[in-house]
Amino acid sequence: MQGFVQAMQTQAHTQAALQAQLEAQECPHCGRAHGGTECWLVAGKCLKCGSSDHKIKDCLRLQ
Ligand SMILES: [Zn+2]
Ligand SMILES: [Zn+2]
Repeated sequence: MQGFVQAMQTQAHTQAALQAQLEAQECPHCGRAHGGTECWLVAGKCLKCGSSDHKIKDCLRLQ
């Protein structure tokens, strides 16, 4: 039983490290470090605010 708990802890540790690595890594598609979240460029969303209603060139926040 102790070995099982230890294995679970090791797995959680590895996943946390992987997640941290992912979040620090720049996305190959948009160059932003958005981690495991959906890539706005791939999803066709505005890269400024993440809205799917418009693209970054039409974004009102881009002033
Ligand atoms: Zn991306
Ligand atoms: Zn926008």
